[in-house]
Amino acid sequence: MHKRIVFIVLDGLGDEYIPQLKGTPLEYVSEELININKLVSRGLCGLLAPVSIGIPPSSDTAHLSMFGYDLAVEYPGRGVFEAYGEGLELKEGEVAFRFNLETVEKKGNHLIIRDRRAGRIEDPIAEKLIEDFKRVLKEHDLPVEIHHTVEHRGTLILKPRDGKLSPKISDMDPHEVGQPVLQSEPYEETPENELENAKRTADLINRIVRLSYEFLNDHELNKQRIAEGKPPGNIIVPRGAGMKTKLRSFSEKWGVKAAFVAGGPLYKGVARLIGMHEIPVPGATGKVKTNLKGKVEGVLKALDEGYDFVFLHIKGTDTLSHDKKSLEKALFIKKIDEHLEPLTELKDIVIGLTGDHSTSSLQGKHIGLPVPILFYTDIGGRPSGAKAFSEHNCAKYNNIGVIRGPDVMPLLMDLAGRMNEFGLRPSPKRVLYIGAFGRPLSL
Ligand code: ZN
Ligand code: ZN
Repeated sequence: MHKRIVFIVLDGLGDEYIPQLKGTPLEYVSEELININKLVSRGLCGLLAPVSIGIPPSSDTAHLSMFGYDLAVEYPGRGVFEAYGEGLELKEGEVAFRFNLETVEKKGNHLIIRDRRAGRIEDPIAEKLIEDFKRVLKEHDLPVEIHHTVEHRGTLILKPRDGKLSPKISDMDPHEVGQPVLQSEPYEETPENELENAKRTADLINRIVRLSYEFLNDHELNKQRIAEGKPPGNIIVPRGAGMKTKLRSFSEKWGVKAAFVAGGPLYKGVARLIGMHEIPVPGATGKVKTNLKGKVEGVLKALDEGYDFVFLHIKGTDTLSHDKKSLEKALFIKKIDEHLEPLTELKDIVIGLTGDHSTSSLQGKHIGLPVPILFYTDIGGRPSGAKAFSEHNCAKYNNIGVIRGPDVMPLLMDLAGRMNEFGLRPSPKRVLYIGAFGRPLSL
């Protein structure tokens, strides 16, 4: 029998030792979790390195890796997911970026980053700054589209006009406070025949970022923020240049009918691009104040509608870690747990629960330590003996080893009775699930 699968990702779930909590945020509340502990008590558990041990993944690479995509050949670049997350369609030849509205200070000829999120600038202010900047881009007749998404985040799309573009260019965001905004340049390994296109793309994005500083630094709303003691959003800093590539859909890869419930644009982008069906949930924002109840109801609705794989993403855990709010992160995990009860009552089900990476609420950034993971199933499986879910317990009771991203789907699929025996090949397609048959022989 084929069981259905629910895969829950609490973004940036893993963490490191926080002295005030005498453990990680998850360890701090682990004994008090009711529903997650029900799952771990009946399930397997262990540790997950979403990309590789010691490598801090970005959220998009981690998700793609866990969904079974080969990052070396199938990763189109972060900007692509951001664009899709916003419901934008990329046309052939366009290059998309993720950007942050940041706070910089001019030092000589350079711009030093003081706050990478401009104090998590409020939506209406960020929205207005970007709207006004659009006018400037238009006045300069630049082939670019720019959109604000959530808080300090946005998407920028360059359109080919005076020649082809290339996504093989470096980030302008050093990802570190105190460093200068960087000049974008072609990757050193860019092939000769693409070098000119990469150079053209880098020149264009460098010009746009200079313009953004000149315009936003003098903006009335930023002057007002400074007067209120808040960091101004006085520059846009892009990264993650990407171009649309052809990806095999998730359903084709795993033979399931897949749906997703997510609030954050990046996760919607990843799920949409690999063809998962979206279950919209009002109030699912991708922020800490999100509609958790609605999101769990969304999962149940998807199962009712006949989807046999449902991906549920919750972002707040990562956001609180970046803001170094370890106690709030712990309490948010507890709050999530309270809403998961309906999932523990499902029949013929496999539930995976993990994070896409560890995010240190001590350092405020992604780290390469593995993440705790559990695989629950209502019948069968192999209980690990863990009674509470935490980094510590998933190491102590680990009965799956330290797995990597590409191991997640096979484990979920195997527990659901959906994996074919390795070596069998009933289809010309290179897939691993049961039910992928080629054409019947004709007489
Ligand atoms: Zn993440
Ligand atoms: Zn993060």
